[in-house]
Order: sequence, then structure tokens, then C-alpha cells
Amino acid sequence: MSRYDVLVIGAGIIGAACAYRLAEQGLKVGVLERAAAPAMGSTGKSAAGVRVQFTETTNILLSWYSIQEYRQMPEAAYRPIGYLFLVPDSHWKQHLEGVELQRSLGVPVEVRDLEAAQEWFGFLPVAPGLEPILGATFGSADGMVDPHGICMEYLRRARQHGAAVHTDTEFLTAEPKAGGWQVRTSRGLFQATILLNAAGAWAGEVGRRAGLDIPVQPARRMVFSTAPIPYPTWHPLTIDLSSGFWFRPEHDRLIFGRSNPADVGFCEGMDWSWLEPTLEVGMARFPWLERFQLDQKASWWGYYEVTPDHNPILGRMPGVEGWVNACGFSGHGVQQAAAVGRLMAEEIVDGQAQSLNIDSLRFQRFARASSTVEKNIV
Ligand SMILES: Cc1cc2nc3c(=O)[nH]c(=O)nc-3n(C[C@H](O)[C@H](O)[C@H](O)COP(=O)(O)OP(=O)(O)OC[C@H]3O[C@@H](n4cnc5c(N)ncnc54)[C@H](O)[C@@H]3O)c2cc1C
Repeated sequence: MSRYDVLVIGAGIIGAACAYRLAEQGLKVGVLERAAAPAMGSTGKSAAGVRVQFTETTNILLSWYSIQEYRQMPEAAYRPIGYLFLVPDSHWKQHLEGVELQRSLGVPVEVRDLEAAQEWFGFLPVAPGLEPILGATFGSADGMVDPHGICMEYLRRARQHGAAVHTDTEFLTAEPKAGGWQVRTSRGLFQATILLNAAGAWAGEVGRRAGLDIPVQPARRMVFSTAPIPYPTWHPLTIDLSSGFWFRPEHDRLIFGRSNPADVGFCEGMDWSWLEPTLEVGMARFPWLERFQLDQKASWWGYYEVTPDHNPILGRMPGVEGWVNACGFSGHGVQQAAAVGRLMAEEIVDGQAQSLNIDSLRFQRFARASSTVEKNIV
């Protein structure tokens, strides 16, 4: 039976970052991954965007700290193509408050002149069926990374510090035993002092297998891809907040999508019926999209891992000795993983996260009458 100080459940970007930072501190770390290889869950399906344009302090800083780490990591292939938010009247006031907060925290975000942005980025501020766009904001440090590259690099570093990554090994159940946990997996028994739940969209299911109620739900998201386009296009990752439609360049193509709020629960495969409602709003705002062809085979789907307030659940589980959560990133885990790895190592080694106050993201918030809600969710 293998014994570990910390057994991380899930070898996505979050589990990998945590495993590396814990092993670096000299702890004996094991990672359990059900799939045949790491990064096969949401990490490998992400649109790979990183941005500081959030409305909650902790989200802004988690992303900002992570972007700074990715900048230094060749495997992250960080490309600051920027994020452009197109903001309708109904969101403008709260969006500007967000920009003020972002700037007060020292991150680079600017309000763009609407006419200049329109000329540069080619959108219709007034479009049929959509709320008019009142303003635009641009984050120049925002952009994209290679989530698979980051995940594999963290795991390489974790192994270098002695961690063991058990692929093809599904976490089945866990029972408290002798000051730690006895864990049953598809490949036999393990023992660990601490279990770290980094199981992404399956974090709720993993919790249930240990008798815990962790409010993380899967929500399927589609990423549609055009065929190669005949001439180069330069665009930032662009989000129309009036409809939730987003797109960005991907090599010689564009990828685009829009969240379907009704698509909650485990449901596999592409939902092609969602293409039409996506294109309808996309082409209304960006009529030039009509010129491009769809490439069905290059399109893909994956799960967001959603909590009731669209914020992650970080830190020790109250009342459950030796259980730590790093899950529920609600569709923005790639851009927060680097910071979360450091914070979870602090939480476990020092007894509490030190480099950032994560109280607003702790499990305890669900017992309070109101918790903060991140408004810039896409
Ligand atoms: C279409 C799409 C677009 C996205 N775009 C962005 C974006 O632009 N920017 C951004 O920051 N985020 C984005 N996200 C979200 C991001 O991908 C996730 O927040 C992030 O990957 C979460 O990482 P994770 O390691 O927690 O989860 P995962 O990568 O899903 O890893 C969890 C792992 O746990 C394993 N597991 C589950 N159950 C068990 C078990 N019982 N035993 C053992 N192993 C188990 C799974 O196999 C999986 O490998 C997007 C997600 C999707 C689907």
C-alpha cells in the first residue's frame, strides 16, 4: 500500500500545480488520475485564455499572479493578445467599477474609445436583436497560454521533487483512518494524511465518494472552429457582454463560443443545436464572420466546473480533518492554477494560505447569507 503526505485527486492543471508546489516543499506527494494521461479533462479542452478583467479582488489577483508566473515559463507559451470586452449599457457602470478595482490592484486595463475600437476591431455597436454597446475595455496583459504545456511542465517538476503520478487510477472511496485517509482506487489501496480534491468537473462526485457534499457541477461548453481563413486576422480575445459571444484567433482559424446556461450536468459530445443560437448573435455583432466556413472536426466540447457563485472553492474543508479543496473554478481555472498551486502548498505546509487572503473563496462562504459573486463570467 502506497503512503503519501498528500494525495492529489486529478492530474489537470490545478492538481499538477498543487502537486509541484507541495513536492517542492519536501512533502511526499502522489497524484491519482483516472484517465490514461494527464490534462485529458477540462484542462485539455479549454479555450486557454488568461485575463485579469474580473470583478472580484481574489479572482483578479489569482489571475495576475498566475500570468506573471506563466510569463516566465516557456512551456506556457504565453501570448499577450489582449482581451477586449464590449460592454452594453446595462453592464457599463458595474464594469467600470471592476476596471477601477483592477487598476487599483496594479493590473493593466484601459477603457477604449468606442469609435476607435469599432474601427480597429470591426463590430457593430448597434446590432439587430442585441443591446447596444456603450463602451469597450482592453487588458493588455491578457491573452492565451498552452494549458497542456503548463500541466505537463508542473508534473515534470513535481516528479523531479519525488512525486508519483498514478494514471489509469480512479479514486473510488475514502475513509478516515489513523489520523489520515484510507483510499480505495481502481488500482488498490493508498494511504494519505491529506486528500486534495482537484477533480475539476468531477469534484462534486469525488466528494460524494468520501461522504462529502461539495457544490461543484459540470456544465458542458462548446468551442466552434472555422476552417483556415484565407488572410491573416489579428484580434484580441473578444467578448460581447450583451450576448456572451466570444471569439479569438487560433493559428490560421478563429474559434468562438457562447455559454448555454441550460446545459448543466454530465452530457457528452458536441451539441450542434447550440451552433445556430451562437452564430445568430455572433454574426449580428460581427457581420464579417459570415465569410468564414465552419470546420466541424476542429470544433470541440468540454466541461466547466461550476459552483453556485461562480467562484472556486479553495482550502481546508471545515469539520473534515485532512480534506482540502481546489476545485469549482467555473470556467477560469487555467488562468488561476499557478497561484492556486502556491496557495494550496501554503495552506497545507504553513496551516493557512499566506500570499493571498482566500477567505472569500473558502467553503464556509456557502453558509453565509450572501457571498460575493463574480460578474465577469463568460
Ligand atoms: C470549452 C472550455 C473553455 C474554457 N476556457 C477557459 C479559458 O479560456 N481560460 C481558463 O482559465 N479556463 C477555461 N476553461 C476552464 C478550465 O479549463 C478549467 O477551469 C481548468 O482546466 C480546471 O482544471 P482542473 O485541473 O481543476 O480540472 P481538469 O483539467 O478537469 O482535471 C481534473 C482531473 O480529475 C480527473 N478525475 C476526475 N474524477 C476522478 C477520479 N474519481 N479519480 C481520479 N481522477 C479523477 C479527471 O480525469 C481530470 O483529469 C474552459 C473550459 C472549457 C470546457
